[in-house]
Amino acid sequence: MQDITMLVEQQRSFFYSGSTLDYRFRTKQLKALKQMLQRYEQEIYIALKEDLNKSSYEALTTEIGFLHMEIDYTIKHLKEWMELEQADTPITHKGTKNYIQKEPYGVTLVIAPWNYPLHLAIAPTIGAIAAGNTVVMKPSEYTTSTSSLLSKMIYDTFDTNFIAVVEGDAEVSKKLLEQKFDYIFFTGSTAVGKIIMEQASKHLTPVTLELGGKSPVIVDKDANIDLAAKRIVWGKYTNAGQTCVAPDYIYVHEKVKGRLLKAMKKHIKAFYGKQPIQNNDYVRIVSSNHFKRLEAFLTNGTIVVGGDTDKETLIMEPTILDNITWEDPIMQEEIFGPLLPVLTFSTLEEIVDRLKRMDKSLALYYFGEKEKNQHYVFKHISFGGGCINDTLYHLANPHLPFGGVGTSGMGAYHGKYSFETFSHRKSILKQTTKFDIPIRYPGGKIAESILKRVMK
Ligand code: NAD
Repeated sequence: MQDITMLVEQQRSFFYSGSTLDYRFRTKQLKALKQMLQRYEQEIYIALKEDLNKSSYEALTTEIGFLHMEIDYTIKHLKEWMELEQADTPITHKGTKNYIQKEPYGVTLVIAPWNYPLHLAIAPTIGAIAAGNTVVMKPSEYTTSTSSLLSKMIYDTFDTNFIAVVEGDAEVSKKLLEQKFDYIFFTGSTAVGKIIMEQASKHLTPVTLELGGKSPVIVDKDANIDLAAKRIVWGKYTNAGQTCVAPDYIYVHEKVKGRLLKAMKKHIKAFYGKQPIQNNDYVRIVSSNHFKRLEAFLTNGTIVVGGDTDKETLIMEPTILDNITWEDPIMQEEIFGPLLPVLTFSTLEEIVDRLKRMDKSLALYYFGEKEKNQHYVFKHISFGGGCINDTLYHLANPHLPFGGVGTSGMGAYHGKYSFETFSHRKSILKQTTKFDIPIRYPGGKIAESILKRVMK
């Protein structure tokens, strides 16, 4: 393992050289990142297959493709994002010019999880580069092939004084957190998010925490059931449910439950075949410990679809569990696997009242046609972000900030929001020397009379 203290010091010296402040430097590095992804594309497919049995289709759509889109979008808009932002001048500040300058924080730390091991390490890095920071990246220890490939690709492409990968587990992560970083971007569990924030507080380092939680899907009685079923199945079983914004459980109106379950069964078969366990393209569970945790949930409620597992290959079929109650173990934590519990409701008010009192989820999905009900749900329940009549899709729109709230995280990124996340907004007032309004100085009566008028 490289000397972490030295690495951070070297990155800090490089940052102080001022190279990253230059627009051309940043775009050059973003282009190098894109070329790196092109150069290593085949190796990326192999690594993701080894780590998670990801098919090249899923690797392309949920990891590599997303990154290319983010890089292209960032290069296209970076100049305009970097420009000084003019601010208004109130009457009391006559003669001044006011603006906001976006400046990089400095040396940043990006800690990534295993579920989208390439995407979630590189996507924040795009924002960090665009905003003019240096990056120390810590991939997850569970996806070792991708972690070592990341290390190799980054080393081959970038100066380690600018971007470096430090591989390792929680212990390595803790060592990194002892250093003074200027910004920490963490993606992972809520439990570890708390540790990150505590460590960051020792240096008063600002953080973005991209965490998880139990994201509900509500299916109302007037929903387009077949389409709802199709979009829920896609959102849940992509990456075998190991997606931070995957539907965690379904709350379905009692009148349409039978139809929904039937339609979901049909779509699972259409997407993954009669025996998904034998489907070569179906993602596996990341480790035997994660597998065991999920397997224990199979005794909750009644299995209505799926349920087959293979301990050797760590494959777990797309599974739907009916007759679930809030007391079941599966409802006590984020599932993060291909098990989908179903609960029923009879009035929207009853579930909105329950959900708004629970931990704020990273996502929420509502299926139903009436705008009044859509507004009602989204007005009363707080959560990171979500969709009406869809799942997951909001996160692929670069115009929407992606992030959690409360226990599902703080801060957001993607598109311009990534640049903003990694930039400090510095307020500048440029005063004129041509005249000097006496209003603020002691002895003057004008300020007093203006303020007295304002205070009335
Ligand atoms: P995790 O919190 O266990 O690990 C994430 C990273 O933190 C890893 O790199 C790990 O090495 C490191 N880490 C673990 N323990 C640590 C400690 N004590 N101190 C410092 N660092 C430590 O998360 P995971 O299991 O890799 O990922 C799954 C979780 O991530 C789920 O909760 C999921 O919802 C969440 N997630 C969120 C998003 C998002 O964008 N909001 C995306 C993906 C995953």
